[in-house]
Amino acid sequence: MSTSLPASCSCAVMTGFNQPLETRSFPLPRELKPGELIIKVELAGVCGTDVHLHKGELKIPLPLILGHETTGRVAAMGASDTKDWLGRPLAIGDRVSFTVGRTCKTCRYCRVYRLPSRCLNRKAYGVSTPCGEAPHLLGGYGQYHFLYADTAVFRLPDDLPSEAVVGAGCSLVTAVHGFEKLQMQWAESVLIQGSGPVGLASLAIAKEAGARPLIVIGGPRDRLERCQRFGADLTIDIDEVRDPAVRRKMVLDATGGLGADVVVECVGHPQAVVEGWELARDGGKYLVLGHYGDAGPAMLNPHLITRKELTVLGAWGSEPQHWTIALEFLRTRRSDYPFHELITHRFSIGQVNEALQAVASWQTGKAVIVPNG
Ligand SMILES: [Zn+2]
Ligand SMILES: [Zn+2]
Repeated sequence: MSTSLPASCSCAVMTGFNQPLETRSFPLPRELKPGELIIKVELAGVCGTDVHLHKGELKIPLPLILGHETTGRVAAMGASDTKDWLGRPLAIGDRVSFTVGRTCKTCRYCRVYRLPSRCLNRKAYGVSTPCGEAPHLLGGYGQYHFLYADTAVFRLPDDLPSEAVVGAGCSLVTAVHGFEKLQMQWAESVLIQGSGPVGLASLAIAKEAGARPLIVIGGPRDRLERCQRFGADLTIDIDEVRDPAVRRKMVLDATGGLGADVVVECVGHPQAVVEGWELARDGGKYLVLGHYGDAGPAMLNPHLITRKELTVLGAWGSEPQHWTIALEFLRTRRSDYPFHELITHRFSIGQVNEALQAVASWQTGKAVIVPNG
């Protein structure tokens, strides 16, 4: 069952690393199995990870339709009784979003260790789903998106704007996952390293969880101002305070002289971890959240972990339950955490290369592709 679907649609395709993306036409699937969906894409977020993928920093298959932060409307369904991940019936025209990771539910990570983010057979739309063969439409930078039956789809409530979902993007669900590992306590001091999307999302969650004080080290200035808008008590501009020793003194002064209870790395630069271990108090927790791309090694002193009894944690991607938390958070708390205001740039499919360039050079709050605009 479907609305009147076109025979084909346009998508932006990455055929080589560091090469311009090409606009290509792909046929829409003619028949869908039960549970499968075709989504007419409304907004596709341009994530910083897309820039890293375009540079070839992760091993991914080509050709590929990028885009893993997508909202759209259900345009075709394989069966009329299809439900979303929370068991709510779906209908043609419903506005939805979905988790990009699909897991096998049978490997040891899925079954035994309950770590589906590390599923041995995990596939992520827009990252590890090449478009060379049918059903082709496996990324957000296209007019339509195919969803397999095992995708965790979420019907979006009317009072949750798509701009909030894509404005928060994969950063918020990633941060929800990370903070689940941290098991933060109310009124702990939290230091966020980095004021980009992951840093801002982490800041929102820490604020909501009762962090005090809540400190951000980052830049440039407009990003730090946004962090203040989202509730940061102290921001340290890395362009103004260039000496790590001075930054450390500022953090110690703000946390009673001992360092932060919790430090969250959202930079993606190995040297940030070196600095961050020095900024956590003894017995504190350190979460490495910003190294989705492999930015290489750093010279770290393990003595600090032993002596400080530091807990070092990592979190990879997100799982469907993190989406339920993130979507409800965005729906109910968006006046305090206006992720929907982050979208500053809108691009057509033909402008994807400009979009990637704008994100790479930090010109944007959040850039989105509007493929049917
Ligand atoms: Zn992303
Ligand atoms: Zn698995």
